Amino acid sequence: MKKILVVFGTRPEAIKLFPVVTALLATPGLTVRTCVTAQHRGLLDQVLAIAGLVPDLDLDLMEPGQSLDRLTARLLTGLGEVMDAERPDRVIVQGDTATAMAGALAAYYRKIPVAHVEAGLRSGDIYHPWPEEVNRRIVAPIANLHFAPTETAAAALARENIAMGVHVTGNTVIDALHWTSARIAGDPAIAAGLDDVAARFAGKRIVLVTTHRRENFGGGMAAIARAIGRIAEREDVAILFPVHPNPNVVTVMDEILGDHPRIARIEPLDYPHFIRALDLCHLALTDSGGVQEEAPAFGKPVLVMRDTTERPEGIEAGTARLVGTDEARIVSEVFRLLDDNAAYAAMARAHNPFGDGRASERIAKVIGDAVCP
Ligand code: UDP
Repeated sequence: MKKILVVFGTRPEAIKLFPVVTALLATPGLTVRTCVTAQHRGLLDQVLAIAGLVPDLDLDLMEPGQSLDRLTARLLTGLGEVMDAERPDRVIVQGDTATAMAGALAAYYRKIPVAHVEAGLRSGDIYHPWPEEVNRRIVAPIANLHFAPTETAAAALARENIAMGVHVTGNTVIDALHWTSARIAGDPAIAAGLDDVAARFAGKRIVLVTTHRRENFGGGMAAIARAIGRIAEREDVAILFPVHPNPNVVTVMDEILGDHPRIARIEPLDYPHFIRALDLCHLALTDSGGVQEEAPAFGKPVLVMRDTTERPEGIEAGTARLVGTDEARIVSEVFRLLDDNAAYAAMARAHNPFGDGRASERIAKVIGDAVCP
């Protein structure tokens, strides 16, 4: 039996890895252990609960307001100790978080082979997204299996002379989305918490907003808040805004937005409710990575509040658009989609450049077949 240690710490990693864990558990010849670092405790636990995933190990490393240095040091030490105790044959990390970077590094220090899920995304700018662009790049030379979601991602790896062990699999977020949509179809009660909002905003076009990027903290976040306030002045529009719990987001939104009849500022949604929100909305306004991948599956235009993206596939397909964090630009891009039916229709094509829902199956097959030293 080969022992596989799957390491993750945040909401997006959990969403994108629970289908992989399920597929690995069904693969003969593998013993699977999961270790969460709980870099973002509350949001991670929401996903674990929905996915029915009980981690084997929980480092519970979240500390409010901790610096990146301290977080990275604690992750590296904690994950190293886990690897010494578990002695896995392979470590799997996902994406671009501090957990992924430290997990790969701790495995490298022990000469344990690493597989990287969602490899090869590059914005080309080390400060956008910060520090995720570099976290992701640090994993690349360490990993010997690179699960690139798209050909674009595989090409980015090739430009860095990484060709061996690269597999284009699709993004596992689409697997998670399909699984969750099927669960909602079977039991709508699991996403019924949005019934009130849907009734309250009936007849209005809902703009779904999420924002949490570190590089938008400060001036960018304030500009985003003012733009949301201006969009909500329109009577035909409503804002559905699950607010990320980071104080850099919450405080600014409290100060600038206050109470507004057409803005529903709510707690972060669990995954089924977020999927329902994507279904209900007219368009998504976001700085999230995952939402850029999910919204096109629902045929919803995405306006990305960033200047660059490591997910160019949506931009190239015309279903996503970079709008930055300038207040006037955000407002005018949203109004354009609200007022220009042709512009809306051009972006609202259901289209999925990010995957077909079978990425985890492909990943598990490669891991099962791979020879570990
Ligand atoms: N998401 C969620 N509830 C919310 C907001 C987002 O479940 O209230 C999900 C969303 O569907 C996506 C993921 O969280 O899959 C994105 O996480 P986030 O934006 O925190 O991180 P990023 O994708 O930018 O790394």
